[in-house]
Amino acid sequence: MANTWDDWLRAYEAAYRSPTPPLQLPCPNCGARALSLLFREKTSDGVGHVFFWCGSCRFGIHLSRVDVPDGAAFIPYDAPADEQPLPPSYTLVHPEDSEDEGEDVESEVF
Ligand SMILES: [Zn+2]
Repeated sequence: MANTWDDWLRAYEAAYRSPTPPLQLPCPNCGARALSLLFREKTSDGVGHVFFWCGSCRFGIHLSRVDVPDGAAFIPYDAPADEQPLPPSYTLVHPEDSEDEGEDVESEVF
């Protein structure tokens, strides 16, 4: 377990496959089964952004432009502002800056 973007993304992908709360996954950072997934729909066709965080260590990630999966907790795009629950404040984990090592994106460009 670690607290990197990749670890969080892997946990997110697992959570996305069975998003109905309560999530049974351990947190990639602290191991607590306190992860929450909250989608906020932006358009009527079910595209939105998502908050994914651990209620124990208060780390997490945020992704935009995702499809809201069936069964997930989500805020409808037309919900009144005062009925929109917000995630607690948590520390965002960001993708690591791509250094020279690893995949070189430009080598894929023709
Ligand atoms: Zn945690």
